[in-house]
Amino acid sequence: MNSERPLPVHVSTFVIGAGFAGLAMAIRLDEAGERNFLVAERGDDVGGTWRDNTYPGAACDVPSQLYSYSFALNPTWSRSFSPQPEIQAYIRRVADDSGVLDRFRFGIDVEHATWDEERQVWQVRTSAGDLTADVVVTAAGALSEPKLPEIDGIGSFAGEVFHSARWDHDADLSGKRVAVIGTGASAIQIVPEIARTVEHLDVYQRTAPWVMPRHDRAYTGVEKLAFKHLPGLQRLYRTAIYWGRECFVPAFVINPKIALPAKKAAQANITRHISDPELRRKVTPNFEIGCKRILISNTWYPALAQDNVDLVTDRIARVTPTGIVTEDGTERDVDVLVVATGFHTTDLPVAHHITGREGHTLADQWAETGVSAYKGATVSGFPNLFFLVGPNTGLGHSSMVFMIESQVAYVLDALRTMRERDLVTVEPKRGEQDAWNADLQRRMERTVWHRGGCSSWYLDEHGRNVTLWPRTTFAFRRLTRVFDATAYHLVADNETLRDGRTDTPDELQELNA
Ligand code: NAP
Repeated sequence: MNSERPLPVHVSTFVIGAGFAGLAMAIRLDEAGERNFLVAERGDDVGGTWRDNTYPGAACDVPSQLYSYSFALNPTWSRSFSPQPEIQAYIRRVADDSGVLDRFRFGIDVEHATWDEERQVWQVRTSAGDLTADVVVTAAGALSEPKLPEIDGIGSFAGEVFHSARWDHDADLSGKRVAVIGTGASAIQIVPEIARTVEHLDVYQRTAPWVMPRHDRAYTGVEKLAFKHLPGLQRLYRTAIYWGRECFVPAFVINPKIALPAKKAAQANITRHISDPELRRKVTPNFEIGCKRILISNTWYPALAQDNVDLVTDRIARVTPTGIVTEDGTERDVDVLVVATGFHTTDLPVAHHITGREGHTLADQWAETGVSAYKGATVSGFPNLFFLVGPNTGLGHSSMVFMIESQVAYVLDALRTMRERDLVTVEPKRGEQDAWNADLQRRMERTVWHRGGCSSWYLDEHGRNVTLWPRTTFAFRRLTRVFDATAYHLVADNETLRDGRTDTPDELQELNA
């Protein structure tokens, strides 16, 4: 698109990523009159994970009415759970209508952002040149970097091999022997689609997921007309879905026993579609429902029961040029290998590309302290840096778009505060950040994610949950509604007003009032 235009020398706000979050940030900045911003996107379009995940069967497992911006309801959703092409088209349409795309640059890699303490700006190096920015907002997403499995010999595989998020549409699977590694949210959508055309499909399962029925249906013409002409009705419908979803929270964060009806529905989903006792045993999870992401599908179990599909539960020992060998010594031939093994979630890759006030990268800091932020948005040692979809803002039950809009509001209020109070920098106090995270981790202790008897991508290598939000989404919205300047070190007019180093405590008090 407009990537060939030269970059400005300086912008007020530099946004990394043009997915749901980056686009919302741009639209809201523009509405707030903050016009001097730039959004850098390495892909060639808006959409982020919805642009990248084009695998067969890709669809959202949060209802479309809720999985959309509150400021851009879509009356034309075709179904209750939208397929990926429709979501991508929606994001594109919102972007086109917003009038902000002139400040987007596509096909640009953000190589590094370094805090310049002397000039109090971010020095940003990109593949299209350098610029400075007063504020950096990273909207790079948690599901953007595919995670490839470390399996012996995988590099030697002679056939086609690709990750679910980088689907090779030129690869013809019909009549081929295909292997899918993984049984997460992506795999359970891919398998039923490709099982129809491949000659044989081996599905390599390490852990059986809980899979509930998918209550998906096409909207009737009457419903679509009503959504179009009665936006209030659509908003009411969306609100009802929102509160319905919030009712799931206690089962995750208070007591998994509350989820017993869901567990029963998932067990019935197995018995309804699978008659073979051995296969039933293999697909029945051995941990509490909710510990890993709960999946929804009506086609996963029927696909596994198909004659041309085998569910392999023996561990993979190695990959050879022509197939996969499991630990029991069996080798299965493979023409095409699909790795549906998820994303780098707990080790946010963007952290390697950001160097803060003390000269070390965010990745280095997090290697010592563990991944943490204040309100999922800001990090001590990294002034004027804001995260969207930052640490501990993920959800297992509802729409990330709701969380994104909460975080965007927080950033906007921070920028407004900076402008109104003539602040050059804001940086969360270490103590506030630690207290925030201590409270989060205390709440985590009783969640199903910790007590449910599974390992998941929610947890880091020390078993800390650094991805999910352990409370209701309305609590998060309340806590991020306004920028709480008292939790921050504030620097105004080049005069250092940080705690312990301030010469002007009265002024600090005034600023924090
Ligand atoms: P995922 O949930 O992380 O699943 C990865 C799968 O690969 C798991 O079954 C995992 O097994 C397996 N795996 C990983 N490494 C392996 C290895 N070395 N050997 C064998 N198996 C291995 O990834 P995903 O399915 O791409 O989904 C990621 C997230 O994206 C979801 O949780 C969801 O948030 C989002 N998503 C949403 C939708 C939707 O809305 N419908 C669709 C797709 C994705 P273990 O369980 O044993 O680790």
